[in-house]
Amino acid sequence: MSAVQPDVDAVIVGAGFTGLYTLYRLRKGGFNTRCFDAAGGVGGTWYWNRYPGARCDIESMQYSFQFSEELQQEWRWKERYASQPEILSYIEHVAERFDLKRDITFDTRIEAATFDEDNDLWVIETNGGETVRARFFIMSVGCLSAPIRPTFEGESDFKGEVYQTSLWPKKKVDFTGKRVGMIGTGSSAIQSAPLIAQEAEHLYLYQRTPNFVVPAQNRYLSDEEVAEIKSDYKGFRAKAYSGLTAFLFPRHDQSLFDLPPDERRARLDDQWEIGGLPFLGAFNDILLSEGANAEVARYWRSRIDEIVEDPKIADLLTPDEFFGCKRLCAGTDYYETFNRDNVTLVDVSGKGIQRFTENGLLAEDLDYDLDVIIYATGFDAMTGSVTRIAITGTNGLTIQDKWADGPHTYLGLTTSGFPNMFNLVSVGSPSVLATMVTGAEQHGDWVGDCMEYMRDKGLSRIDATVQAEADWDAEVTRAASASLRMQCDSWYVGSNVEGKARVFAPYIGGWPPYIQKCTEVVANGYEGFELR
Ligand code: NAP
Repeated sequence: MSAVQPDVDAVIVGAGFTGLYTLYRLRKGGFNTRCFDAAGGVGGTWYWNRYPGARCDIESMQYSFQFSEELQQEWRWKERYASQPEILSYIEHVAERFDLKRDITFDTRIEAATFDEDNDLWVIETNGGETVRARFFIMSVGCLSAPIRPTFEGESDFKGEVYQTSLWPKKKVDFTGKRVGMIGTGSSAIQSAPLIAQEAEHLYLYQRTPNFVVPAQNRYLSDEEVAEIKSDYKGFRAKAYSGLTAFLFPRHDQSLFDLPPDERRARLDDQWEIGGLPFLGAFNDILLSEGANAEVARYWRSRIDEIVEDPKIADLLTPDEFFGCKRLCAGTDYYETFNRDNVTLVDVSGKGIQRFTENGLLAEDLDYDLDVIIYATGFDAMTGSVTRIAITGTNGLTIQDKWADGPHTYLGLTTSGFPNMFNLVSVGSPSVLATMVTGAEQHGDWVGDCMEYMRDKGLSRIDATVQAEADWDAEVTRAASASLRMQCDSWYVGSNVEGKARVFAPYIGGWPPYIQKCTEVVANGYEGFELR
């Protein structure tokens, strides 16, 4: 028995979907748990990303919890793809309904956590000066929650307003009559630009690299379709769970080359009408065959050419990389926005944005007068939210050193040398390639089950073996190497952060094999772990 007893069984960092579910699960298991979040409320990414147009690109009937039949029956999603305010209301509802807030400390950031090897517990320090000792340290800090903002010369000279999509203020920002400059053309910019353009005097979009933007084809959900899913929500979820990404979408298990050219086009047209990420389901080799991918990219070019009136702008908006290599963006009227007189696409792929000035910014040697500048510049994805915390495991090893050449995990859930620490729905697991909410429940349950097992057996320490971790790393790499996604720069491989090791961070081998592996590990008495 350890000499020093923990204050609580577990500390959870983050009160988004994953943190909330894990808190619920651990409470159900009789564990005394505290959760901390730097935000003023629940919601994680949905708390911070309040920019105009913020919306999920997984269908709302699927991007929601399934652990409670009552919950999924009583909540009525309005739209096919839920908006940020609707998702935040939902998460708030969940927190209230299951009385979760009483264990959450808001406005508090975890700054450091050190494993106490003598007592098998974590010593966790908050920015408020509190120290909490917990047997288990559970990271549910999200994959896209460490915002990055490039620095430009002269930033403090600019006299106008400055915003960042990922840290958007709670109050409505009024763009009426203003000249707005937005840096970046990823999903956040793509969702917000069409709405800002409707309000602003002029919108300048500074684009370094274009993205493929699938029309979301968002719409209100009819009572009939909601009722149909709810008539057998369990069955609907089970079907999704058995699929490659843990959510259902029209997917054709057929190569592009199995169809004659006119039928290929018809298939792509159909998927365009369906909209959103399902576009990738048009053929099963879009991300595997360069030839299939090139044909889809050509189709894309023709679509952009049809929509965008100015051929030069259409050209600039057309990516020259593999289709779907970066995460696809789902937008509404994005390409159409460039036909507006008050929108200018500025190509900054040459000299880039050179500096901020008193009245705006200088880009590609031209001065732009602006009233507002918005950074839509993304995240230190997957690892950033973990490595921003000073975490020290056994023998003084820090997470920053351990992951200096890329993340190393066993099942994504653990990293060897950091006993009793779990990192949920992030690197090394399907996370961003499946639905995060289903991932939250699966990981929350896995950890809850593991803690119950350890309690039943009188164990106080679990650590992945070096060998099991090396084998899982190899599997993560093997799965990624088959995908064209390895071949372009994106946050999936960390290339949007200078100096970051290039590693495909999530597990792309598919949801079913991942679940099978997690289940087998447990069935074999936590194979690959050292328990004591
Ligand atoms: P992002 O996709 O990483 O886009 C960042 C943008 O900023 C890129 O266009 C990048 O250009 C640009 N940029 C960065 N530094 C720059 C610089 N110094 N000068 C000019 N441009 C610069 O970030 P995001 O839009 O926030 O989206 C990140 C991810 O969050 C998405 O892929 C998605 O998974 C998730 N997300 C989802 C939704 C949704 O639809 N549900 C909405 C928002 C976000 P380069 O490409 O040239 O580097």
